[in-house]
Amino acid sequence: MTLFESISTIRSKIQQWRQAGQRIALVPTMGNLHAGHLSLIEIAQQQADKVVVSIFVNPTQFGPDEDYDQYPRTFEADRLALEQLSVDGLFFPAVSEMYPLEGREAKVVAPEVLSGIYEGASRPGHFDGVTTVVAKLFQITQPDIAVFGQKDYQQFAVIQAMVESLFMPIELIRAPIVRDTDGLALSSRNQYLTQQQRQIAPVLSNTLEWLEGELVSGNRGCKELCQLAHRMLLEKGFDAVDYIDICDANSLAPLASLVPDQSAVIMAVARLGTTRLLDNRLCTHVTEGEG
Ligand code: AMP
Repeated sequence: MTLFESISTIRSKIQQWRQAGQRIALVPTMGNLHAGHLSLIEIAQQQADKVVVSIFVNPTQFGPDEDYDQYPRTFEADRLALEQLSVDGLFFPAVSEMYPLEGREAKVVAPEVLSGIYEGASRPGHFDGVTTVVAKLFQITQPDIAVFGQKDYQQFAVIQAMVESLFMPIELIRAPIVRDTDGLALSSRNQYLTQQQRQIAPVLSNTLEWLEGELVSGNRGCKELCQLAHRMLLEKGFDAVDYIDICDANSLAPLASLVPDQSAVIMAVARLGTTRLLDNRLCTHVTEGEG
């Protein structure tokens, strides 16, 4: 595996790969790699000849009171894990390499209809930071494919809209959520949880599973179901629920009720102390039930 810290060195290597007719995949991450990230890399390796993983904790997607400084940085362990997976290139740029223009930086603005709701409402400016850094990474690496996780469902929808509206010739792959044995979606932020909070945490994924079960068995009252789920989360120990909604899987518009064969996604963020746990469940095959 080759480590690239500069844009010029990774560009010239990628140019060589391209000239040899090789298909290139990019897996963008903020590091502190876990099995969720590694699953994206395995998918990328099945789809491409050369896989580049980027590790960059992107300052522009963090709000002023968020955890940019605290965010876990574990470069040596990450590098080792990537070596073991035989990743071809690791791109690990400094902030000054990615944002060299001090005050003259352009940004890519995410579409408001997707970025002003849910995560975007809780974290103003977050998705503009995401689209800007992902566009930069795409410009630098010019991948044929890029793999992202369903874990960040709204992020994927925003990136997909950017790729389509700017005609970027990149195939996006949305990889399934990797979970711990008790159902908790793996996340670098899970390590902020105390032991007691960690025991409560899987209630979130269990609740989403329960909601999906209700939809599958024909309960169509999305609003009532979500209100009930919200109460259940608080009763079982969560400190706050930022949102829990059943949404159209494409537009992310909240649904009051489901029509037969509608693709829906259940999206939720609940808090344990100051830690926000993000989860979702895609329900693409909810057929009309008895109720
Ligand atoms: P992050 O390092 O948190 O920015 O995540 C980098 C990529 O890994 C994003 O595309 C995430 O959606 C994805 N990812 C994070 N957690 C998981 C998970 N538990 N399962 C699958 N993909 C994940």
